[in-house]
Amino acid sequence: MAGTDYDAPRVKPEEQAPDEALEEARAKVAPKGDKVDDEPNLDDGVTLPGADLSGVELEVEVAPERADEFTCMSCFLINHRSQLAAGSPDHCLDCA
Ligand SMILES: [Zn+2]
Repeated sequence: MAGTDYDAPRVKPEEQAPDEALEEARAKVAPKGDKVDDEPNLDDGVTLPGADLSGVELEVEVAPERADEFTCMSCFLINHRSQLAAGSPDHCLDCA
């Protein structure tokens, strides 16, 4: 029997960094002087001292498609079934 598994949430557990590690890193990287950072932060992987981004990053990254939702093949947004265009099976009303 062939099951459909594309509705399963794609959660990556290894990306959930433990809070202790974050606290430890923050203590080590604590700034001493008034170092001015004049370069834009291009590295997403860096942990900024004082900014707890662990929860925010997770929220943005993990967006499982629910059973009553679909991904538009044109704008790649996850929409509710009610936004599904009548003529096309995988395009939203905006893109139809
Ligand atoms: Zn669309």
